Amino acid sequence: MTIAFIDLAAQQSRIKPALDAAIARVLAHGAYVMGPEVGALERALAEFSGAKFGVSCANGTDAIALPLMAWDIGAGDAVFCPSFTFAATAEVVPWTLAEPVFVDILPDTYNLDPQKLEAAIVAVKAEGRLTPKAVIAVDLFGQPADYPAISAICQRHGLKLIADSAQGFGCTLNGQHPGHWADVTTTSFFPAKPLGCYGDGGAVLTDDADLAERMDSLRVHGKAVKSDIAGRTFDHDPKYLNMRIGMNSRLDTIQAAILIEKLSLFAEEIVLRNQVADRYAAGFAGSAAKAPTVIEGGVSTWAQYTIEHPDRDGLAAHLKSQSIPTAVYYPVPMHMQSAYSHYPQGAGGLPVTEAKAGKVISLPMHPYLDAATQDQIIEAVRGFNG
Ligand SMILES: *Cc1c(COP(=O)(O)O)cnc(C)c1O
Repeated sequence: MTIAFIDLAAQQSRIKPALDAAIARVLAHGAYVMGPEVGALERALAEFSGAKFGVSCANGTDAIALPLMAWDIGAGDAVFCPSFTFAATAEVVPWTLAEPVFVDILPDTYNLDPQKLEAAIVAVKAEGRLTPKAVIAVDLFGQPADYPAISAICQRHGLKLIADSAQGFGCTLNGQHPGHWADVTTTSFFPAKPLGCYGDGGAVLTDDADLAERMDSLRVHGKAVKSDIAGRTFDHDPKYLNMRIGMNSRLDTIQAAILIEKLSLFAEEIVLRNQVADRYAAGFAGSAAKAPTVIEGGVSTWAQYTIEHPDRDGLAAHLKSQSIPTAVYYPVPMHMQSAYSHYPQGAGGLPVTEAKAGKVISLPMHPYLDAATQDQIIEAVRGFNG
């Protein structure tokens, strides 16, 4: 039997009749774009994460772009983010003509280092070329960034804070979701994410009603929303009034219908993922494989189970020879990619990021990883001496 890196079939088999019925309902009502399931999902996502408003969109990349656009971030502005992340985190910044400033990570959690973040903000202000506007913190591999420290820095410097929780949607710190500290939380429903659909999708969560309304406008070509129309009269349908430059970034109704069913399992799946993670950690105790560290008070959703090994490539080959799939997230940090290498970096560069890129390796992780298979993986890792 082949070992799955992420087993989506096991989850599907649990809720197949409900999924089939949900998809059939959409086919029957025919509102394929912005149908009733979209609003229902947005309310359910907001409730799940303790936010007031949810705005869905076409993918987790657009989800990060929407708040930047809604805040009018643009040319001459600086947006601080980690380099040890998926491309989308940094990619959306140049879309707005602003510049990403890459900041190093903490060695134990792989998330933004608050001290280095503050130093980078101070340096950009002192240089005077760019105006600091926002920070994008990433909940890498599923665990929350250090939001109490990062949000305090953002408040001191008057910056907006985005939680890129594409991998960490559902994670908590001291019982609170990232949106407790961040102005917006963004997520992705790419199939392999902890809460995934059967295609592309994304969402933004916020407590800010005006921001939610502007993002609702931006995702549909800058359409006129309530506050744009209030007190005005029209001799045409205001639906075709475009108040701002937006984009076409809607979540398909079918995907929303699928996500409503998957969300009903999600809290339980986070518990199951944590059981798998605990089992791995116990299995790697005293071995050359360094199990991950979660921030004190944090609950990870374990998008990835990422260990460090001094002979990472040797271990990957060894596991492959035993038909155990692995992946490396991320072999080339963003600041070392040719399209991004000219953007500014925090003072002192990114030595932790660069060191980690050579050591990390992610193992099979999903809520339905059975004990026998997991033991086989643990044994194979422990059996490799490098
Ligand atoms: C997957 C991911 C995204 C982008 O999500 P898409 O839905 O693929 O656009 C953004 N940030 C991080 C950290 C991700 O892992």
